[in-house]
Amino acid sequence: MYKQASWNEPVIFNMGRSGRVGHILPKVEDEIKRAIGDLKTAIPENMQRATQPNLPELSEAEVTRHFIRLSEMNYGVDSGFYPLGSCTMKYNPKINENLASLPAINMIHPYQDESTVQGILEILYKLERWLAEITGTYEVCLQPAAGAHGEFLGTLLMRAYHKFKGENEKRTEVIVPDSAHGTNPASATMAGFNVVVVPSDDDGCVSLGALKAAVSERTAGLMLTNPNTLGIFEKNIDEIARIVHEAGGLLYYDGANLNPILCKTRPGDMGFDIVHINIHKTFSTPHGGGGPGAGPVGVSKELARFLPVPRIVFDGKHYHFDYDRPDSIVKIRSFYGNVAVLLRAYAYILSLGFEGLKEVAEISVLNANYLVKKLKEIRGLTLPYNSEKPRKHECVFSAKTLKNETGVSALNIAKRLLDHGIHAPTIYFPMIVDEALMIEPTETVEKEELDHFAEVMQKICEEAYTNPEIVLKAPHNTAVPRLDEVKASHPRTMTLSWRMHQKRKGKDL
Ligand SMILES: *Cc1c(COP(=O)(O)O)cnc(C)c1O
Repeated sequence: MYKQASWNEPVIFNMGRSGRVGHILPKVEDEIKRAIGDLKTAIPENMQRATQPNLPELSEAEVTRHFIRLSEMNYGVDSGFYPLGSCTMKYNPKINENLASLPAINMIHPYQDESTVQGILEILYKLERWLAEITGTYEVCLQPAAGAHGEFLGTLLMRAYHKFKGENEKRTEVIVPDSAHGTNPASATMAGFNVVVVPSDDDGCVSLGALKAAVSERTAGLMLTNPNTLGIFEKNIDEIARIVHEAGGLLYYDGANLNPILCKTRPGDMGFDIVHINIHKTFSTPHGGGGPGAGPVGVSKELARFLPVPRIVFDGKHYHFDYDRPDSIVKIRSFYGNVAVLLRAYAYILSLGFEGLKEVAEISVLNANYLVKKLKEIRGLTLPYNSEKPRKHECVFSAKTLKNETGVSALNIAKRLLDHGIHAPTIYFPMIVDEALMIEPTETVEKEELDHFAEVMQKICEEAYTNPEIVLKAPHNTAVPRLDEVKASHPRTMTLSWRMHQKRKGKDL
């Protein structure tokens, strides 16, 4: 079983010795002098440094070993099971990585003339068409850099639509369910809307009564994840769409959970007007740590006129950028988005095809329900919101009983899993489940891995009853022991770089 390496690795600034160097390269000063004249006068004065930067001085071998050791202290989806619910941490086939790093792709410059980048334009154009087909939308914009960015674009599109209809002043509210991801209300607020929260019913679905009470002539739209963050399919989606549309609002689909419905059903067919896709979750891009990702947005025919420019068009012979869209909300990101991420999605879709994508959905659902069956038997864990109902790609267990009976919380379970070489699931989200453990195995794990995970969970919960101390103090076998959760996320104590560290110590770099 893989566990993180645990070295006492110093920061690179505390390594090496003055005067030590890596490569010995030929002196270039003379050549530079020939090309641009004296260095001192060639660089404008305000851009010259008064002192040499304080860089670590190491040999090449020291640098290599330092970074390899750091990488071995890391844990990723290539190291083992990574059931981080909602995030869809699936294994990403290496062929997509190879394609994205081909020089023909990664040496393209966004300012190159259109005639010299016909190949990538064709790829992006086709990807837009495929994503439109997969989501049941009319046109797709590839620009947004993440899901949250797609949400922001989506809520701006809501605004553009209501403005076009002369109703911008009165459409001030966006409705989100209480199971929604935090980015939904954040995006709606950033676009200037007031957020109205609707509760879930006993089945874990949007309460129709509460939704009816919440819609009004102030409703700009509803943002919904389906299947929702409990992994439950909103069975009343037709009725939900009718209620929102009849009130004059639009339906926004948070596509973070597209994985389990790929090629089975489509948001567009459920009545959604605006759909974002988390390319880095569903369509194979390594993610975590902030990106880069891609959050393309698909819209219905009625909304296509508002999409950001440029649009890629094909005249039958050539692809080119079209800026001639008078109703466009202009731009949402520089150039055309994160092209290398989009290329991986193109390769992923091309290699799997319709049948392959459908199998992705089926196996992700099968795996989640297999785990549900096993975890339901564990003492201390419960599956809130209709435990008999099948889940889609993920499930949310509650450790509330375990906590009441033993003092061991969801957080403690998550930490103890690390001792077993398993990445922790998402905890304390969605907020409507106490002591939530949100588990998403994805389709890229084997049955043996699922069995192993269930066994480890069983063992940890047993330990909670027999030897709670060991779980309460976990992890014991990791590179760093338990972190101070508050300190680790507080802007005043978080130190993100060596420069910041030095500044805090009062040293100038
Ligand atoms: C991940 C996620 C988002 C946000 O997507 P990012 O790409 O991380 O910005 C939104 N909603 C849900 C349900 C998610 O899981």
